[in-house]
Amino acid sequence: MIAVKDYCALPVRPRPINGEATLGFLMRVARENGYETLRQLGNTFRNFDGLCQALGLSAEERQGLLGPHPSFWGPSAFSNGLAVADFNHSQMRWCPLCLRDSVHLRGPWLLKISCVCNRHSIRLLERCPSCGSTQRLERVNLKQCACGAWLADIRGADQVDEPLISVSRSVEAAIDGKSALAGFPAMSLPEWIRLIGYLGQFSNTFQPAKPGKIANMHQLDTASVLMQQVGWLLDGWPENFHALLTTIHRQTASQSSIRRTFGSLYRTLYTDLSGECFQFLRDEFERYLQKHWSGVVNKRHKAFKPETVARHPRVTLKQAAKKAGVAPSTVRHFVRADVIAGNQIELPSGRKLRSIDEQSLKQIAILAKGYVTLGEAAKQLALPERRVRELISAGILKPLVSRQLGNAATWLIPWQQVQGLFFAGTEVSHLPLTISVRYILKHWHLLDGEFINLIRAILECQIQPLGNPTQPVPLGSILLAEQQTRQWRVEKRCEGGVSLSVDEAAQWLGLKQQVVYDLVKLGLLATIKDDLPGQRVTHAGIDDFQTSYISLAEYAKTMNRAPRWLLQTLSVRPVSGPMIDGGRQYFFRRSDLCTERISSR
Ligand SMILES: [Zn+2]
Ligand SMILES: [Zn+2]
Repeated sequence: MIAVKDYCALPVRPRPINGEATLGFLMRVARENGYETLRQLGNTFRNFDGLCQALGLSAEERQGLLGPHPSFWGPSAFSNGLAVADFNHSQMRWCPLCLRDSVHLRGPWLLKISCVCNRHSIRLLERCPSCGSTQRLERVNLKQCACGAWLADIRGADQVDEPLISVSRSVEAAIDGKSALAGFPAMSLPEWIRLIGYLGQFSNTFQPAKPGKIANMHQLDTASVLMQQVGWLLDGWPENFHALLTTIHRQTASQSSIRRTFGSLYRTLYTDLSGECFQFLRDEFERYLQKHWSGVVNKRHKAFKPETVARHPRVTLKQAAKKAGVAPSTVRHFVRADVIAGNQIELPSGRKLRSIDEQSLKQIAILAKGYVTLGEAAKQLALPERRVRELISAGILKPLVSRQLGNAATWLIPWQQVQGLFFAGTEVSHLPLTISVRYILKHWHLLDGEFINLIRAILECQIQPLGNPTQPVPLGSILLAEQQTRQWRVEKRCEGGVSLSVDEAAQWLGLKQQVVYDLVKLGLLATIKDDLPGQRVTHAGIDDFQTSYISLAEYAKTMNRAPRWLLQTLSVRPVSGPMIDGGRQYFFRRSDLCTERISSR
């Protein structure tokens, strides 16, 4: 039932223009019927339906209107999923060029995300070009500002670029159903609004802590920024999106988790924009991770597509070791020695998580055959680890050096080098008393550097290992002729100016140990005290002894006589010997023998 007063209230009944904003239409109705504000319409009609009936609007005409009716008539209902909050209620935006064509308010201008005229490719206006006032939607004059200036004045209307126009056109096209940008999924208007509202907040310079809460959305500048940003992202898809991800990725120092690193953007992609039509964003995000996330992606990442988890190329060291069939410690060594690229992240708990690229697995398996750890090398060579370290510092073994500082150095030693320290023996008819290198290390009290000298002597074949020529044995187990090796050591010590023990001096002089002890006791062979334990004999002391004294045995040899005969014949008395002082062997002073030879002539 239409009251007669309602008809009387609207003597002029303009028709809506397809796509016109409801509020704008009402402004025209009010103005043409002599009302000065929309409020006055509200006082005349109880509700929007009443007004429509008074105007005799067809259902089709009503459907052509866009946006809410004034709030004094209660909440507006939308059938297409839009919300009241998607529209401006108080402030007007307009295209001055469109207003020149027809003085009516286009429906899309009322959307909060609208910022450009798609027909004229210029930015919409929201302020009077003359006095700068905003134009409130409750007024009824669409042509003029309160100051009298014409709103069709094009001063201040800027041209806008193509990416922004493309997005804006897609948004407008979505008013009539789903619309898509080329190459992107189709979206409804509410979906476009959601995409722009959330994604538009992220830029290379700013990421919101709580996306979704946008302040000042009723202002044109806010909409411009969001649309501009989404235009940029979609226009250069996916490069620009990757650039944004890279920026955020690099901002976080501790990249312990994907969620923490990508923070609010992660939440936007997987929660706020969880709809199926936004899957293309997640696909690209997961593609980015596959290429650039050096951490592990596993089943704990429930939000990811199963393929993303399955295809992610990073694995933990433990997984890598299992897949490559080697010990986890070996993989760790490879990473530390930098032969396999690894990545380390520190979890908030302080635990360090290392990961490597799955492509490295093959390489690990190959490398594992070519290298051994220090401990393994020691085992293989039958030597203590300390001695393997000595071989390394002497450059006999050249390992891959660990890059890790602080901790005890870790090494990987090429297996070939370890094999180079396996020796085949030489067969001899009379096997002398032998001694193993391991035994020497344990019982001979080698001086610094003597172990390395010994190994060099073996490598240079000055000392030859004895044993089976077809069965090489590791360095620690090779057998050496004891006598020859002792002799070699004494010579080395003399060469190096190292004092000798009395035993070694005996070896050097070719005399029995007891004889040399006697010589020391009698003062014929001088000894000293130095850093080394016991009485020490110097090289000079041995020289002195040899130039001053000669044994009866040696003298007899040079004279080509029997020692016994000489002893009875010579008038010179020995300085030491069984009949003189109970010594085991006779010794003469060389100078006495010279006199003897002269006198006997
Ligand atoms: Zn326009
Ligand atoms: Zn003005």
